[in-house]
This record gives sequence, structure tokens and C-alpha cells, in this order.
Amino acid sequence: MTTENHYPHLLEPLDLGFTTLRNRVLMGSMHTGLEDHKRDFPRLAAYFAERAAGEVGLIVTGGIAPGVRGSALPTPTGLFSRLQVPRHKLVSSAVHDAGGKVCMQILHGGRYSFHPMSVAPSAIQSPITPFKPKALSAKGVEKQIRNFVRATRLAREAGYDGVEIMGSEGYFINEFTTTHVNKRTDEWGGSTRNRYRIAEEILSRCREVAGHDFIIIYRLSMLDLLPDGNRWDEIVAQAKMAEAAGATLINTGIGWHEARIPTIATMVPRGAFSWVTARLRPEVGVPVITTNRINTPKVAEDILARGDADMVSMARPLLADPEFVKKAREGRADEINICIACNQACLDHTFSRKTCSCLVNPRACRETELNYLPATQSKTIAVVGAGPAGLACASIAAHRGHQVSLFEQSGEIGGQFNMAKKIPGKAEFAASLAYFRGELDRSGVKVHLDTAVSAGDLEGFDEIVLATGVFPRQIELQGIDHKKVVSYIDVLNEKVVPGPRVAIIGAGGIGFDVAEFLSHAKDHPDSSQSSEAFAREWGIDITLEAQGGVKGIEPQPPASVRDLWLLQRKPGKPGKTLGKTTGWIHRLSLRKRGVQMLGGVTYEHIDDQGLHISVGGEQRLLAVDHVVICAGQVSNRSLADELEAQGLSCHVIGGAKKAAELDAKYAIAEGSELAAKI
Ligand code: FAD
Ligand code: NAP
Ligand code: SF4
Repeated sequence: MTTENHYPHLLEPLDLGFTTLRNRVLMGSMHTGLEDHKRDFPRLAAYFAERAAGEVGLIVTGGIAPGVRGSALPTPTGLFSRLQVPRHKLVSSAVHDAGGKVCMQILHGGRYSFHPMSVAPSAIQSPITPFKPKALSAKGVEKQIRNFVRATRLAREAGYDGVEIMGSEGYFINEFTTTHVNKRTDEWGGSTRNRYRIAEEILSRCREVAGHDFIIIYRLSMLDLLPDGNRWDEIVAQAKMAEAAGATLINTGIGWHEARIPTIATMVPRGAFSWVTARLRPEVGVPVITTNRINTPKVAEDILARGDADMVSMARPLLADPEFVKKAREGRADEINICIACNQACLDHTFSRKTCSCLVNPRACRETELNYLPATQSKTIAVVGAGPAGLACASIAAHRGHQVSLFEQSGEIGGQFNMAKKIPGKAEFAASLAYFRGELDRSGVKVHLDTAVSAGDLEGFDEIVLATGVFPRQIELQGIDHKKVVSYIDVLNEKVVPGPRVAIIGAGGIGFDVAEFLSHAKDHPDSSQSSEAFAREWGIDITLEAQGGVKGIEPQPPASVRDLWLLQRKPGKPGKTLGKTTGWIHRLSLRKRGVQMLGGVTYEHIDDQGLHISVGGEQRLLAVDHVVICAGQVSNRSLADELEAQGLSCHVIGGAKKAAELDAKYAIAEGSELAAKI
């Protein structure tokens, strides 16, 4: 049987002259944390081998430092000694054995390094790291270049198919190429040519030691997103230089880490930056790779079919589903577990020095320890609650061979995800629900919707799993029964349409989401659905005439359609508990839309006039039409208590087990872990 090829551009091999890639998918570099310790390399090898078996065209490892000073982290992990070669061989061999190809990314952290020995072209501290870098002497520059060359030589020895030289995102090379950090007056600074010299030296000398049958990718910062970033003509000149110096492929980098414009988070439209690569492609002869928020085969295929690029890079989508390419090739794209761009288990972990994983796929980076093997004995299992915890548990347990019945009291699966997907910029949550819906079908789970279960219904099952989630926390406050007071559930389910002035009590994840929801006009598409609207909202110049893509461009965020106050009792600015890599976007987005955020609030009472509060001892009246309560949640344990009273044992997972610090990452991981061993 032949499968119809829906993705002819994506699945077309790419001939690089000395080697051929089996398709146009590059697994982009992503630090997992497993690179940091020698002991974790077997896990790293298993992680990559699974992606290679899933048929990705070319893998790029997480950033590997070329020397101690260039290490992005305090633990000097990298490839700068022969002693480190064997551990890297584990990775390259595992990928080759699985039929794949792999390049090692050489990442010099520059002033983004988290240690006091960091170096940069000039001694200018970055706003996102605590250390001021040392400005390199001319001799020091030469030493760093030699380190890149040594890393390339060792990478070849370690069996890699190539290297990627990281020249974007505000790391070391990028710091030289723009005047933002490069204030030098010697041959490494000043003119465009002088600033690019370091990239040219690194690329040409790496090519010299690597020979001609070795892939060298240059990751070029095509859009710095800083007012003193590079002009477009400088970027084109750098690309031409990279090609002449021996780059096999040019990859796209978008935005420095310190730029205050979102580039990969969930509110960024799918494929939002491929237009930048498209502008560069005609300027060079080597294939170019585009990147950022490409998360389905269709998005990737459309980009390639339009001619925006020769390859697409995806990093997080391959964490979410190692079989992304294989499923696309086999006509099973609808079975792909889609990356929802939440960053919660990947980048947020990386920046908290925790091993990376994936919210929708907790097996990511745990391939050697979390496996869903066929069950030795098939059991009958009742799972109550079809939120993320119950969905993950039911479908995985059924795939393992158990007979699973899933009971959900409402008319649809998804639990709180059905509210999350309504938040502007969070439409991706719907893709996750579609995946789970398919998984229930494929695994043969018997789904019973509109079925509120009580203890009596659960007799006779071998195992009972309760994933009954949470209730909103009720708070004590004078006037809490006033008709102005509504719960976030009624607001998000549109049972209540709040008036033009609204106070939100509670500024956790849900408070922020409700503020976002209420600030938008109903049925008006938000900017996550259009690259042009997104660029306008955040002040990106799509003509590429502005320096750094942003200089002189005023962001045009649409004003909130309501007067909104987002409140918390804790002193300080609301939003500190939001995700490490995305919290700033939510805060900035609401601030730009005019939402007022207050910390240190004492709630006094609610009456016909509105919400009475005091802040810093000063009494205030917020004359609002509605007060939305988003004050956290408590576990829904009623069924668990009922079962316990009857002496029936059960497994309690997700929000039903623990409401504090509950999120979907925790809920899905719990459901999956239980299903793996039940
Ligand atoms: P739930 O999702 O609450 O599901 C429980 C299910 O059990 C419900 O469908 C309920 O109807 C059913 N049920 C209860 N009792 C019974 C019974 N007796 N019989 C049958 N069925 C029953 N998390 C994140 O990680 N990232 C986010 O960006 C994010 N955004 C969010 C945005 C919003 C607006 C909301 C509301 C939540 C968001 N969350 C987010 C939180 C996340 O959705 C929850 O942590 C997660 O859904 C909890 O999963 P759960 O399966 O434990 O419970
Ligand atoms: P939350 O993050 O715990 O926030 C609850 C808020 O209510 C806090 O601001 C808290 O601040 C306030 N509060 C608590 N008790 C109160 C009381 N008795 N009276 C008044 N205010 C009170 O919970 P949530 O916002 O409901 O979110 C639930 C979970 O969903 C979170 O754990 C989160 O991880 C997840 N989620 C994540 C995202 C995301 O983008 N990652 C988005 C949505 C939800 P004070 O105590 O200072 O007043
Ligand atoms: Fe994508 Fe979220 Fe998984 Fe990261 S944690 S790979 S952003 S779904």
C-alpha cells in the first residue's frame, strides 16, 4: 500500500553535495540539561536516537561550549578536550544506529554566560545575567576563535556529521557582529566588516580543519529585535560572508534573548518569522533554514512550498513528538502530539537549571526511565474525569493493553483546557485536546460523557483512578454574594458577560488569563492568528528597513476594551509566579493594553458602588460593574472521600490530589506516570 504524500516539499531529500539529508526537517538546537553532566550522556543519546528513529532529517544538539570561558553555565560542560570525546560518541553513534544524522552546536555564551569568567567584545553586562563580562584583548579573541576550531575538530573525531556555529540570539558571536555590545576600536570592532570578522575567521578556520565533507551550519541573527541591532544590508553581507567562508547551510536566528518581543511563545503566530528567511534566501546560494513556531507538518509544508526556505527547523515540536516526521510521512499527521509553545517544561526548566521535558509529552528526556510497555496482565480500569490528567492516564493505560472506561460529567473531554483554549493567544490548547481525542479512539478507551460518577458506579473495576480536578476557591469577603461577583468559570464559559469596568481578585495564571480574555473584543481575532497583526502589535518592521527590525517603530497594541484592575494581596508586582520565560510577556502585554495591576491590596467589601480596597493604608473604591474571583483552587476530593468511606482503594491524580501549584504539566505527568505502572 502506498501512502499519499501530503508533504512533498517537507519530505523531499536535500542534497548537500557530499551527503544527502532524507527530508527538510532540522531538529533545532535546544539545551536539555542532559548535556551538563557526563553521567547523563546515555540518556541524551537515547533521547536523540528516538528522534532519529522518528525520521527527522538532521539533528542539532543543544549548545556545547568550545571552552571554559564560553560555557553558558557555571559547570564547564563542552567539548574542549579529547577526554570528552567518548561521551559525545555515544550520541553520534546512537543517532547513526537509528538512521539519522547529527550536528553538534558550538555555543559560546559570551556575556549571556552565568559565571564570573564570562567574556565579550566589550565589558557591557546584559540585562538578563548577573555578571559583567571581561572585554577580550586581541589575544583573547584569537584564543576564543581557536577554541571554536578545536571544538570542530573534536566534534568530527566524536563522529558528528557536522557542527552548527551559533551566531545569533545575542550570544558571543552576535555580540561582536552588532554595535549593541561591540564598542571596540581595533580590527574586531567599528565597521560592519570588522564586526563580522570574527564569524568569518571562525567559519573559514573550522572549514579548514573539518574538510569539505562535513556539515557546517551558521546560525545567523537575521532579526536582532534591538534598536542598535544590525541593518538588513549588514545581515545580507554577513550571510554572503558565511557562504564564502564555507557554511553548508544558513540557519535563522530571531531576536536576542534580552529583546522584549516574544519570538517563540504560544501567542506568537505559527510560522510568524519565515518571511525574514524568505527575504534572505535569494541573496545566497546555500540552502537556508527557517525557524520559530513551526509546529505542524502543514505549517512547515506551506512555508517550503511558498519558497520561504529550503528547510524548517523545529526543536520543541520534536520534544513533544519524536515521531513527528514519520507520522507525517505515513499520512498520520493528525496523530502528532502538537507542541503548544507553552515553554513550561522545556525552556522554563532550562532557565531554572532543571532537566528539560515537555508538558504534553513527559517522556521527553526520560526515554530511559518512563516507558509505556505492554501490560503483563490486562485489567479493567475506571478513570473518572477527562481533564489532562485523566486523558493522559486513560489513553496510555489503554495503549498498554488495559480495558479502560473514562467517565466525564460534562459533555466534552478536556477539563480546564476547554477554558484555556479560549484565552487569546492560547488557541494551541485546542490542538492538544484534538490529540487526546484521537488517542482515546486509537487506544480503544470507552468514553462516557455526561456521566457524573459516584462511588457506587465504580464497583467491580480492578483499578479506579480519580482525576476529578478542582473547584474554584471560595473566599470570605463582605459582599461576596453581591450580584456583581462572578467566578472565572462563568466568565470564560460566557454565562456572564462582564460590564465595561471589571476588577479581578487574584493575579495567578488564571487571573492573568481572565484579564487577557476580558481585554479583547469578543470574536475579534487576536494577534496570534496573523503575523502582520503580531508585528504591528509588538513594533516589528516587516519591510526590514528599520535597524534591528525595530528602531523607530512604535508598537501598536490594541487598547483593552474594558477598564480592568488585576489585584493581589501579596506586596509587589503581580505576575511573579508566572512562567520564567513567558511571565514577562503576559505582564508587558497587559500593561501595554492599559490593564492596571496592583499588589499589596486588602479587600474591604463589595457593594453596589463596586469593590472597596485599601492599598498602602489608603482606601480606594474601584467603581466596577463586576468582580471576577480568580483566587486559586481547591482539590475536588468528594469522590475520593466517598470511596475511602466505603473502603475502596483508588489512585488520585492531578488537581484532585493537589491543587496548590497544579498545572497541566503536573497533571499530564502524573497521569502518564501512573498509567506506565498500573
Ligand atoms: P481538570 O482539568 O479540572 O479536569 C477534571 C475533570 O473531571 C473535569 O472535566 C470535570 O468535569 C471532571 N469531573 C469531576 N468530577 C467528576 C465526576 N464525579 N464524574 C465525572 N467527571 C468528573 N495549566 C498550564 O499548565 N498551563 C496553562 O497555560 C494553563 N492555562 C490555564 C488557563 C485557564 C483559563 C484555566 C482555567 C486553567 C489553565 N491551566 C493551565 C490549568 C490546567 O488546565 C489544569 O492544571 C489542568 O486542567 C488540571 O488537570 P486535571 O485533569 O487535574 O483537572
Ligand atoms: P494561583 O496561581 O495559585 O493564583 C491564585 C491567586 O489568588 C493568587 O494571585 C493569590 O494571590 C490569590 N488568592 C489566593 N487565595 C486568596 C484568597 N483567599 N483571597 C483572595 N485572593 C486569594 O491559581 P490560579 O490563578 O487559579 O491558577 C491555577 C493553576 O493553573 C496555577 O497553578 C497555574 O500554574 C495554572 N495556570 C498556568 C498558566 C500559565 O500561563 N502557565 C495560566 C493559567 C493557569 P494573593 O494570595 O497574593 O492574593
Ligand atoms: Fe512545546 Fe510546551 Fe512541550 Fe515545551 S513544554 S515542547 S513548549 S508543549
